[in-house]
Amino acid sequence: MTERGRPKSAVAPASRTVRGTRTPKVAGAADLFASGRPAKIPRTSCYDPDCTRCPRLAEFLAETHHKYPDYWARPVPSFGSAAPKLLIVGLAPGMHGANRTGRPFTGDFAGILLYETLHELGLATRSESLSMTDGLELRHARIANTVKCVPPENKPLPDEIRECNAYLRTELEELTSVRVVLALGRIAHDGVLLASGLRRSRYPFAHAREHVLGPERHLVDSYHCSRYNTQTRVLTARMFKEVVARACELAGLPR
Ligand code: SF4
Repeated sequence: MTERGRPKSAVAPASRTVRGTRTPKVAGAADLFASGRPAKIPRTSCYDPDCTRCPRLAEFLAETHHKYPDYWARPVPSFGSAAPKLLIVGLAPGMHGANRTGRPFTGDFAGILLYETLHELGLATRSESLSMTDGLELRHARIANTVKCVPPENKPLPDEIRECNAYLRTELEELTSVRVVLALGRIAHDGVLLASGLRRSRYPFAHAREHVLGPERHLVDSYHCSRYNTQTRVLTARMFKEVVARACELAGLPR
């Protein structure tokens, strides 16, 4: 999922890390569940696997499921610690990434730098996220998306962002352990403010900017770790590591 600019074509499964080494083939949902998509997925207060509140996205998911029957092709749940200090918020599932594997930032380019960085900083048990069953765990961190369903051409509509914000708001309210929210891109930044009941005009987005959301909670902004941003060097690996490290510091996490 790109934040600045669109990819020239649909994003292919990740095959190369930002450090230049190749990654193995990423499992689709059919590799994880013998019968394709799991029939029953638990519903929670901040996740409904059968949500159809956004008619356009629900229709697009149905088309996607028909075209790629082994893809997850449902709203993608958040992933990571149940009591995180750091909540990372992205934009939306990528068609051939999270929409395929069912885990945020897994299966396409956008997750490569993210998981490498989390691993370097001790927040992930592995440097690559391959599938929902690869054994990867996050420590003190959790990853959510502003919009849980893959949008056509990687672009959710404003109404869809607002509709899905109810889930993000619930998650932010229930995760009382969260000390820092790291927003990947402007849309995630705006979504966190909306979910927190704060006015956008008072909290302008900028890479590495820090905002106080409440007595024990900060918002830290980062450019989105998309293929576009990393390949154009709008966001370098060093820039990203520095901003995630700062978020960890604000959250009181050991370095
Ligand atoms: S984007 Fe969010 S609110 Fe809209 S259908 Fe998907 S899960 Fe429901």
